[in-house]
Formats: sequence, C-alpha cells, structure tokens
Amino acid sequence: MGKPRHYAWGGESFIPSLIGRDNPGNKPFAEWWLGAHPDDSSLVVVDGNHQSLLDWLKIHNEVQDEEERQGEFPLPFLMKILDVEHMLAIQVHPTKAQAEEGFIRQDKLGIGRTAPERTYRDRNDKPEMMVALTPCWLAHGFATRATIISRFALYATFNQLSDQMQLFGIEAAFERLMKMPQCQVNELLGEVVDIHRYPYSRCELNQQLPEYWVCRAVLDQRSGYDRGLLAMLMMNIVHIPVGQGIYQGAGVPHAYLAGQNIEIMSNSDNVVRIGPTKLHVDLDEALRLIDYQEVVPKILHPEGGQESIRQYSHGGTAAFRLQ
Ligand SMILES: [Zn+2]
Repeated sequence: MGKPRHYAWGGESFIPSLIGRDNPGNKPFAEWWLGAHPDDSSLVVVDGNHQSLLDWLKIHNEVQDEEERQGEFPLPFLMKILDVEHMLAIQVHPTKAQAEEGFIRQDKLGIGRTAPERTYRDRNDKPEMMVALTPCWLAHGFATRATIISRFALYATFNQLSDQMQLFGIEAAFERLMKMPQCQVNELLGEVVDIHRYPYSRCELNQQLPEYWVCRAVLDQRSGYDRGLLAMLMMNIVHIPVGQGIYQGAGVPHAYLAGQNIEIMSNSDNVVRIGPTKLHVDLDEALRLIDYQEVVPKILHPEGGQESIRQYSHGGTAAFRLQ
C-alpha cells in the first residue's frame, strides 16, 4: 500500500478515486508514493498485519543500520503517481556525486535530516522518467538561444536581458533573471501578464507558449510574481500525450505544469527548488547544479510488440515497463 503526499499543488480526486479512498476533507492528493523511502515507506501486509516495506526489506536484505544512517536505502527506485493541479516549482536534481557531497555538507552544518530547510534529504541522485496517464504539460530544459531571444524581444522590460543573452548566453541571462531584485521581477512579470491577460481570459492563448502558464499561475492559481515563472520564458514547454513519456536527468531544470502521470525515479527526495512553491527554495544551489545547455525535448514512445506490456527506455540507462 502506497503513501499519499498532500502538497498544495495536488488535485483532490484523481488519486483518491484511483486507490478507492474517500477524501471528505478535500485534501490535495499530490503524490502517491510506492517504494521504501524512509520519509514515507509503503506498507506491506505480513501475516495479516501492516508493516513498513522499508522495515521488511531491512530484515530480509540484512541492511545494516550504519548503511541507513548514511542514507543508503535497500530499494533503489521509487515510483509515484502524480496529480498536477497547480504547477510545481521549477526545480533541478543533483547527480549522485553532488547528492553525496550535499548530504554530507548539510549534515556537517547541523541541518536536521527531516528539517523543512534541508535540501539534501538522502545521498541519491533523482533521475526521473514519467509516462502520461492524461495529457500532460511540463517545462523542460532550456529552449534554444534563438527562441529565448525572440521571446525576450516581445517585451520592453526585457531589453537588457536580451542584450545579455546575445553577448553572454543562457547561463549569464538566467543568473541575472534569478538574482534580480523582486521589484524588477514584478515589473517583468507585470508586463508579460498585462499583454496576455485578455487572450488568456478568452481561452485564446496557445498552451505551447510559456506566457499561457505564467498567466495561469498568476491569474488563476495566485502564485504571485515568483521569479520561477520568469524561468519558464527561457524553457521548453512540452506536451506529453497519454501513453508517451519523458526522461529528466540531473541538471535539467523542469516542472510539471498540468496533468496526471506515473513516474519512476531512483529512491530519492532531493529536489532543489526555484519556485513558485511554499516548500523550501534553494536558489543558489539550483543555480550551481543546473546544466545550461539548450535541450531538445525527447518524447519517449512505448516499445515492444506486446499489447499488454509497454516499455520505455532512455539511452539504455533507464527503462520503465508498464503492464
Ligand atoms: Zn523533478
């Protein structure tokens, strides 16, 4: 039996109906975890009693306490169902080496393993592969320089950033965008929202445009003028049809924007967030981890000829099999 996560961005009905549970308090059911992460292990039934899957694996795999103390877990993967009602924070995940270093660093700083302000909650990387259960949208990696420059050119307040992009490239422009004072963030997002408010309200704004998702976050979801929304203007907006998927490796900035999906990742909760979110933001660490390459999104199609089995793979290093 899995465990729910009630993050504020989750929908109220998809996961409860999937698992046959009532939701009388209309809590957001954002994620359903199936795995053995110490923060929320699934339960198994043993001799008629519920037991933590993590504890069961510890007994049967003879995992040493020392290994768990060091953040090593007996199950290498974690599976989730996600119901994305509101956009998630623009985020990035570390490599295994970065996670090891960050975990030790935050231990030395005395930040508790489950403290809200902790970024590295375990020592693992968190490559993610998702398959859409309903039509899904996400922000994924940096768009090409030419695309970003053409987007910036639409707005008077983006003049200087456009110059920065032309002269110094994506990293310099992104860092400037992420570190500008809040009053400038307000000015930039204010112009974006003002220009697109009317077509958005009439459902005439194309969902492929980042501006659609900026308007949705600001006007419908009350996210405020969060700098994470500016990040979307430099990113690819990707639509994933039902049954297709995408892989997100370390360093690729991304955020789910809408839809329901099933996701498999290594057994980790290491999320380095930019925003918008009410959870912990670690902007400096995100800027350090991000890979500033342009990304051409690669949609994953199911492979294999059998009707009942769908297999997805990414470069032979990660695979996901649905039956
Ligand atoms: Zn992620």
